[in-house]
Amino acid sequence: MKTFALAGNPNCGKTTLFNALTGSTAHVGNWPGVTVDKKEGVYKGGKEHVAIVDLPGIYSLSPYTPEEVISRNYILDEKPYGIINIVDATNLERNLYLTTQLLEMDVPVIIALNMMDEVEKVGDKVDAKALEEALGVPVVAISALKSSGIKQLMERAAAMPGTRKGATVLDSALKSEIAVARAYYEADGVSSPLFHAIKLLESDEIELERKGAKAALEKAAKGADMEAVIADERYKYISSNLATAKVKANREALTKSDKIDRVLTHRIWAIPIFVVVLFAIFHLTFSEDLFYIGAIANAAGTPLPTVEELGLSGGAAQTLAVFYDGAVFSPGVILFNALDAATGSLLDVIVGAMENGGAAAWATGLVGDGILSGIFAVLGFLPQILLLFLFFSILEDSGYMARIAFVLDRIFRRFGLSGRAFMPMIMGFGCSLPATVNTRTLADDKERTATIRVIPFFSCGAKLPILTAIAGGIVTAFGVGNADVITFGMYVLGVCTAIIAVLLMRNTTLKGETPPFIMELPAYHLPGSKNLMLHLWDKTKHFIKKAFTIIFASTVIIWLLSSITWDWKFIDGEKVGRFGEVLTMEDSILASVGKLIQPLFTPLGFGSQLGSWGWVFAVAAITGLIAKENVIATFATLAACIVAGFEGTDEGIEEAVIMIQNTGITIPALIAFIAFNMTTIPCFAACATAKAELPKGKFKWTVLFWVATSYTVSSIIYTVGSWWWTLFIWLAVAAVVTTLIILRNLGKFDICAIFRRKRK
Ligand code: GDP
Ligand code: MG
Repeated sequence: MKTFALAGNPNCGKTTLFNALTGSTAHVGNWPGVTVDKKEGVYKGGKEHVAIVDLPGIYSLSPYTPEEVISRNYILDEKPYGIINIVDATNLERNLYLTTQLLEMDVPVIIALNMMDEVEKVGDKVDAKALEEALGVPVVAISALKSSGIKQLMERAAAMPGTRKGATVLDSALKSEIAVARAYYEADGVSSPLFHAIKLLESDEIELERKGAKAALEKAAKGADMEAVIADERYKYISSNLATAKVKANREALTKSDKIDRVLTHRIWAIPIFVVVLFAIFHLTFSEDLFYIGAIANAAGTPLPTVEELGLSGGAAQTLAVFYDGAVFSPGVILFNALDAATGSLLDVIVGAMENGGAAAWATGLVGDGILSGIFAVLGFLPQILLLFLFFSILEDSGYMARIAFVLDRIFRRFGLSGRAFMPMIMGFGCSLPATVNTRTLADDKERTATIRVIPFFSCGAKLPILTAIAGGIVTAFGVGNADVITFGMYVLGVCTAIIAVLLMRNTTLKGETPPFIMELPAYHLPGSKNLMLHLWDKTKHFIKKAFTIIFASTVIIWLLSSITWDWKFIDGEKVGRFGEVLTMEDSILASVGKLIQPLFTPLGFGSQLGSWGWVFAVAAITGLIAKENVIATFATLAACIVAGFEGTDEGIEEAVIMIQNTGITIPALIAFIAFNMTTIPCFAACATAKAELPKGKFKWTVLFWVATSYTVSSIIYTVGSWWWTLFIWLAVAAVVTTLIILRNLGKFDICAIFRRKRK
């Protein structure tokens, strides 16, 4: 089977074309050794089947990003039958820059002139024939979105001869330099000598590693720095010989994109507009009062009736409660409630059937409390996470995110990050996993490391229940405060921690230049619904896999450890232990382990200073390392088991409140507990992703960084909240640290020197 590789700039429509070509045959893997997606599939629409490989989106073939190196090595080493170079016809000049480099390789190339529907819509024309003549390779006009021209593209691709000699547009200006460098590679019998020769002239890192390459470069370029000259020559050639194939319609008026940009990237309004957009997204996903009518009615002193007060009962009440309870819910909350109601009844049916069938107590416990509650708790968040993801995909595919990154670049630069770091951080509010993967757009390793480390501080969807449940607990148990304010305050705390952490890292261990942010803004597009659905499906698959693997295993283990004693007795409140006592959860393996690690959390307020049952905080903090959903799941399960029968309560919240009050925990310590969970080591899956994405050897330091940050933040909250004057101690510490860092950066004080001397 012939193999064709798709190559092109980011956003040129590669994914859309790949999906149109391969349909259901596609599968995603990884490029060897890196975590960049490798998509492969088969095109079956022609006379013979051909294999299609989707190369990562790139602007050039220099070795500056992993994507560039992957694409380059694939073409040079794997030798595909041909390259399908996708060129965005609405952005011809920028896209052809990559084309001029691809043409220098000894490989057949065909150009897919994409987005022709867009070009025609605005009345422009691109002459594919003229381009074909100028470039010397086939050029086919297509629209990946409308699936037009694709058959013809693939017919011409399959008809290409299997070999081609590389050609360059630089011949007129740099003929002699290229000839000398080329002779060096030809003497070694390397394939694609022209491509290698030009890269050598650019002082390309990869080429310079070859034996004798430095000498050859000296001979060819006589010490001159050719990289900028070559880039300049390429652009000159493109604008005078190739871009002329495009004829712009006679337009006085601004294009639609320009008009939209006037508003959305406005010097002053861009950021406020963006904040409103973000707020709207979060509001649509999480709000329990979509149109504020609940709040307005409350303010007017005439609260709307709750479902209970309406006097409905049975199915009608249940159905209404999905949409409304004294206020209309947002779509996200409605979806959450609907799924929750469905899984809740399913759980009742299954447990009921088991009980009626005479199943043993341990078996019902295992299935009901151990397996199903855990999995359903996790799946319950799927609708909100998907909705958030859908909104962000729309913002990204439409081209809006690129503009926001550009606008925010100015502000981010002060903290030592470029505007590109912004997208992954915002995605962190949904889930750290895709956010961490998204940092691949950051070319600089140090900037990327710093970004990956602070992503968990952008409180993810799974941490949301910790926030709302404990904030609610504080209000109910102590009768103070406002749950919304506490929750919102915690989000802000996470963002502030991230900013301070980035500032610290970029001034100490991860010092470095923030790479310039060069990016041409793609025209606005209406996102294709097919692509969006594929994104969402990927996400759902991933989530379900997580629920049935990690969460499944961990809930079973937690249940087991909290249900048996060290001498293997099942605890069900009736069994009698060795000393004639009735066994309770205090006797379980989990309780004794919890008591053992409890002192670790004493500085944070939820350790040894707590009374009976105080160990549940330690246990919840630890189980949260597996999945953040476990924190509340553990809490609820334990509260249900511990407090069961206590003063005849049966409501989950009441039980938790009784448990909280009984531990003797204080408000500052509870807030410190939330803060700890928000800033500490993220869940298992996020850790695995971070490990895969971080440069070698950085992961262990990252874990240490998370532990240190959560301890610092939580103990500050606990101590200052309990004894206000400790604020001055923390301020003094901050002042000393800041001074040391400034002195060190001025070169007056070298902390590392102390260690270096010791080593000698
Ligand atoms: P990639 O980054 O190269 O994979 O680009 P995508 O396939 O994700 O496409 C980027 C955006 O361009 C999406 O919003 C697509 O819907 C849109 N797009 C892709 N091909 C076409 C096309 O032929 N015409 C139009 N109008 N839009 C397109
Ligand atoms: Mg893509």
